Amino acid sequence: MDNCIFCKIVDKQIPANIVYEDDEVLAFKDINPAAPVHLLIIPKQHVATLSDCSAEHATVLGKMLALAPQLAQEHGIAVTNNGNGERSGGFKTLINTGPDGGQEVYHLHMHVYGGKRPWRGLGT
Ligand code: 5GP
Ligand code: ZN
Repeated sequence: MDNCIFCKIVDKQIPANIVYEDDEVLAFKDINPAAPVHLLIIPKQHVATLSDCSAEHATVLGKMLALAPQLAQEHGIAVTNNGNGERSGGFKTLINTGPDGGQEVYHLHMHVYGGKRPWRGLGT
């Protein structure tokens, strides 16, 4: 898609700090992180919003979601269990959709936030 900044990252026309890549999915660090760890997971094929997705996108959407815990593990933000049934760590996943959803870049992306709080603008 012309003039799509995330398609340009997929095509390596503009640089990004890429943390994962396969045939269908790309993940990279957000340029303006709102948390100590702030990653974006995108489908390589352009789709503007989650509202534009249907059953044909289920596989890539599933891959994006399943990648989040793998990247969380690699970036030290996975949930850990101390053995007493108490959990620590963890992360937030977020897909902003459309103007009312606060979407600014119109290439579907899932945010993954984690690390020591506070996080900017993300509540508790
Ligand atoms: P949205 O508000 O659309 O859900 O989030 C868009 C995100 O993309 C923002 O967090 C913003 O910082 C990030 N972003 C925008 N342009 C670039 C870029 O050129 N490179 C990277 N790595 N992130 C970007
Ligand atoms: Zn795009």
